[in-house]
Amino acid sequence: MGSRSVAYAQRQMREGKPSLPLADQILLQLLPGTPLVVEDLVEATGRRRSAVWDAVKQLVEAQDVVETQLSRAKVGRPKFLLAADPDRAGFIGVAIAGRKGGVQVLTGVLTNRSPRSPVPAEELRTPDLAPDHLAKAIKTLIAPLRHEAQKKFGGAAALGVSLGGHIDESGRTVIRSPNLRWEQPVAFANKLERVTGLPTIIENDVNALALWESAFGLTAEHTFALVFVGEGIGAGLIVDGQLFRGPSGGAGEVGHFVVNPQNGRKCTCNNRGCVQTVSGYQAMRSAAREEFGKALSPRRLVELADDGNSEAQTVLQKCAIALAQALGGLANLIDPLHLIISSTELNGSTFFKDEFSSFLEQFTFASLRPTVTWTRTDYGHAAGGAAWAAVLSAPRRIAGQGLQKSGAG
Ligand SMILES: [Zn+2]
Repeated sequence: MGSRSVAYAQRQMREGKPSLPLADQILLQLLPGTPLVVEDLVEATGRRRSAVWDAVKQLVEAQDVVETQLSRAKVGRPKFLLAADPDRAGFIGVAIAGRKGGVQVLTGVLTNRSPRSPVPAEELRTPDLAPDHLAKAIKTLIAPLRHEAQKKFGGAAALGVSLGGHIDESGRTVIRSPNLRWEQPVAFANKLERVTGLPTIIENDVNALALWESAFGLTAEHTFALVFVGEGIGAGLIVDGQLFRGPSGGAGEVGHFVVNPQNGRKCTCNNRGCVQTVSGYQAMRSAAREEFGKALSPRRLVELADDGNSEAQTVLQKCAIALAQALGGLANLIDPLHLIISSTELNGSTFFKDEFSSFLEQFTFASLRPTVTWTRTDYGHAAGGAAWAAVLSAPRRIAGQGLQKSGAG
């Protein structure tokens, strides 16, 4: 457990959702594993000592927090060291991710409620994208994880589900998901709660990857962007330690940053020349067809470019320039200290990464210098991020008890 996670969770609570009850805020503060004294919590929450102390007592009674007496001062109050018990509840995360031919792969993980690596991973494949069917498939997928949660944590407390699409700010409704071919809003959290009996939160998949990086991943930064580059392009924005969703839940749609308004290809959003029509995988296949007279996979293009093939380099350079334009704009906007680019195919490319880096430097305001890290896309991470979203939404959920009434707030 690094100090990064501590700082992250402290930030999370200090600037976190004001709607979270004080006891939840305090528990989030303690979950990273470093014991604190009441004064730390007073300072971090900005609340009165008596209110903090009441919330702490409530947490101790519920066995969410353990207190150890440090000293019995002759004058003044005794000092207690407070530590959270992360194993009082299990949280399940599921990622729904598309594959070729419309098949969806569901990946499920189980975690306790601390920012630690979750237990990997169950998988299930299904071609049926109807909400009812997917809800039942998720129930089947998580059955062994619930069994495991029962053994380890006394049960599963909540479920987080990540999928590609626009999710409303409350994490209850999928407003639209082209990936799942859901064109109308689907109250998917309600549906899952009925089918599984678990309190549920839905998270956009790229946001879930960003949450994974902030809770379990490698970056120590409070402000960073996780950018997914695949068939589509999107970003999860962590700003000052918080996932920034925007008031409609749609923040981070960097894939629809227009780079070629006049001659660009039509995008899934009906605009022309969005960056994902130039730098997404489908765009790479199309550009390869024009250059080589046949479709090449992004992987093959990357290999050819790395072997010095100039046509492949021409194709990929255009993709790199457009991506750097969009991400340079993103960098100028939020000043991220880290850009983590999640792309299974581009992660293996030396040529593309070098081109991208030099253009990013060119297109980013001179004093902003985000560190760029490439990674392959791991849907186990998206599932872990979704589980973490469930923890953050209500960390005091106790295994088997479902939605808990809010207490001291
Ligand atoms: Zn678009």
